[in-house]
Amino acid sequence: TAKRNGGNAYEFFESKMNQSAFERLVLENELREAVREEQLVVYYQPKVFMKDGGFAGAEALVRWQHPTAGLLSPGAFIEAAEECGLIGEIGNYVLRKTCTEFAKLHKQGLSIPVAVNVSAMQFEHEGFADIVLDALNESGLPPKLLELELTESTAMRDPERVISQIEPLRKIGVTFAIDDFGTGHSSLSYLTRMPFDVFKIDQSFVRHMERDPHAKIVVETILAMARSLKLETVAEGVETTEQLTFLREQGATIAQGYLFGRPMPLDDLVRFASPEPRRAAH
Ligand code: C2E
Ligand code: MG
Ligand code: MG
Ligand code: MG
Repeated sequence: TAKRNGGNAYEFFESKMNQSAFERLVLENELREAVREEQLVVYYQPKVFMKDGGFAGAEALVRWQHPTAGLLSPGAFIEAAEECGLIGEIGNYVLRKTCTEFAKLHKQGLSIPVAVNVSAMQFEHEGFADIVLDALNESGLPPKLLELELTESTAMRDPERVISQIEPLRKIGVTFAIDDFGTGHSSLSYLTRMPFDVFKIDQSFVRHMERDPHAKIVVETILAMARSLKLETVAEGVETTEQLTFLREQGATIAQGYLFGRPMPLDDLVRFASPEPRRAAH
C-alpha cells in the first residue's frame, strides 16, 4: 500500500509546494506594488511612564492597506518582505514617514519621542547610518526624539559592526533599544559593554509571567540588570492592571500595551498625547 500511495502522496506534496511558491510570488508582486503605490501606512502605539501614567512616546508599526484584503498586520507580510529583499525599502519608508510626521508635530509644539523598528537587513546595510541622518536632516526631526529598535539577534550579531553603525547616531542623540529582549542569546558580558539605552521586554514574558515562574524570573532578571546598567525598560504587551502593578513593583520604567492603547493612526495618537483640554470654569 505504501508503494501504491507513494506516487499520489508525492504528487500531492509537489502540487502543494507549487501552490505555496505561487502564492508567495503573488504576495511579493503585490508588495512591490504596495511600496510603489504607497499602500503602506504607519500606525503608532503609545507608551506610558510607569510612575505616573504620563505619556512617554510612541512606536511606529507598519500596516498594509491592501486593495482587496483590508488592513494587514506586519505578521502577514514582513517575512515575505525580508525574503524578497523589500524589507529595506519598507523600513526606509516607515523611517522617513515617521520622521516627517513627528518633525511636523514638533514644529507645532508637540514633541513626541518615537521609536522605529529596524530589520537586520536594513541595519547591516553599509549606508544605514547615512540613511538615518538623511531622514533626520530632511525632516528636521531633533535626533533625540528618535529611537531605533533592533531585535536582540540583530544587536548580537557582530559587536564591532553594531558599534560602528550605532555610534555616529548616538553621538547626535538618537537612542537605541533592544526589541523582544529575552528571546535571543545575548551574553551578559556583551550586553554590559554595548551602547544601548533601552531594553524592551518581549511580550511573551509579560503575558506568561503570572502563571509561569520561569517567565517571571526572566522579567525580574532583565529588570534587575537594566537597573544596574541604568537603562530604561519598556514592558511590551501589557494588557492587565495586574501585569502593570507587578512590572512597576519590579522597576520597569515604561509600559506599552493594549491596556493603554492599540497601534493607531497619527491623529488618534496626537489626541492621546495632548493634555486634556481644560473645562471652562463657570
Ligand atoms: P514589535 O516591534 O515587537 O512590536 C510590538 C507588537 O506587539 C506590535 O504588533 C503590537 O501591535 C503588538 N502589541 C502591543 N501591545 C500589545 C498587547 O497588549 N497585546 C498584544 N497581543 N499585542 C500587543 P504588530 O504591529 O503586529 O507588529 C509585529 C512586529 O512586526 C513588530 O513587533 C516588529 O517586529 C514588526 N514590525 C512592525 N513594523 C515594522 C517596521 O516598520 N519595520 C520592521 N522591520 N518591522 C516591523
Ligand atoms: Mg518594536
Ligand atoms: Mg517587541
Ligand atoms: Mg517582535
